[in-house]
Amino acid sequence: MRVPLLDLREQLKPLRDEIVREVTEVIDSTSYVMGDKVEAFERDVSAYCQTRHSIGVTSGTDALLASLMGLGIGPGDSVLTTPYTFIATLGCILRLGARPVFVDIDPVSFNIDPDKIEQFFEDEAGAQKVKAIIPVHLYGQCADMTKIMALAKRYGVAVVEDAAQAIGASCPMEENGVLTWKRAGSMGDTGCFSFFPSKNLGGIGDGGMIVVNDDELAKKIKIIRVHGGEPKYHHAVIGGNFRLDPIQAVALKVKLPHLPDWHKARRENAKVYNRLFEQTGLVASGKIKLPVAVYADAAAQIDTTPDYHIYNQYIIRAEERDQLRDYLLKAEIGSEIYYPIPLHKQKCMEPQYNALSMPEAEKAAAETLALPIYPELTDEMLTHVVTTITEFYRQ
Ligand SMILES: *Cc1c(COP(=O)(O)O)cnc(C)c1O
Repeated sequence: MRVPLLDLREQLKPLRDEIVREVTEVIDSTSYVMGDKVEAFERDVSAYCQTRHSIGVTSGTDALLASLMGLGIGPGDSVLTTPYTFIATLGCILRLGARPVFVDIDPVSFNIDPDKIEQFFEDEAGAQKVKAIIPVHLYGQCADMTKIMALAKRYGVAVVEDAAQAIGASCPMEENGVLTWKRAGSMGDTGCFSFFPSKNLGGIGDGGMIVVNDDELAKKIKIIRVHGGEPKYHHAVIGGNFRLDPIQAVALKVKLPHLPDWHKARRENAKVYNRLFEQTGLVASGKIKLPVAVYADAAAQIDTTPDYHIYNQYIIRAEERDQLRDYLLKAEIGSEIYYPIPLHKQKCMEPQYNALSMPEAEKAAAETLALPIYPELTDEMLTHVVTTITEFYRQ
């Protein structure tokens, strides 16, 4: 049985006619840049993410770049982030001439470790002009935003949430001693989403969104989105062409209402995997480790939302990971390593970064494997994945 890592065909089937109708309408309108269609989708995202403003942009990468530009980050500034994320997070910092400061991850959630951020501020921040923190909500689960926002406030730095993998994920936030759920992207100064087709909400091409609560910052970023032109052809600041295409906006608007159901299906798949893997004995023997939904305890306290992990990826740690991956490949089961090389070890980084030691990120890069988790997987497919992995360790 073939089990691809991701198959978008099944998801498309019931929505195809509506998407084709909407896209055709855009084509026939000859209104191809920005306009009502983009604004309508932005309003839907604001409602879903519980933010005052949404700004449609070209991609998740440009959402990060335009956010940092809006916050005035540039040469001489430092930006704190995780070394265990997609390159886009780092690329935006470097392209603006700012310096990345890497803080290692928490090995359970794979997200940036807030205690290590605190340690950095106490020990080393004095020498650097830290302007912002970019926490990444990796695999569909938010970083510890209660602690991160408290530190940001204490040290007067901005927070740009890289929520590319976490649209719609809920995060428990403690404010004045009260625990409430907040949506990914709505807690920092800006939140950045990607509509790359493999994300939980994927377009029919590239796209992204910045969500913002502050009116002034939203206004700035909207100007940056159109080359800094305000009014048109008058440029007080430099921006870029960061506009979301209306063809993407209409396709995404059709898909957005289905997102809660897709999150639910991914969560159910994760439950099935967890149960089946427990039964194999692979967990007890330490051959594999299952992903941990770290906010389950908070969920028990606050109730109401199960979306504290939206499983953009289902990640196990596996012994003999690379051999397991080859075995799965031969069995026509898709898997992927997100990410095989932590960012401080990348060739594009200067030698002093390569020399850094980020033990948890390095360990994660050597051990993790993403298994198929997309909503339309059948129980037979999930069982087949687990059976094949069990076979590998029995050889
Ligand atoms: C996908 C992704 C991005 C970039 O999004 P694009 O739309 O592909 O530019 C940034 N950060 C993370 C963590 C991502 O997963």
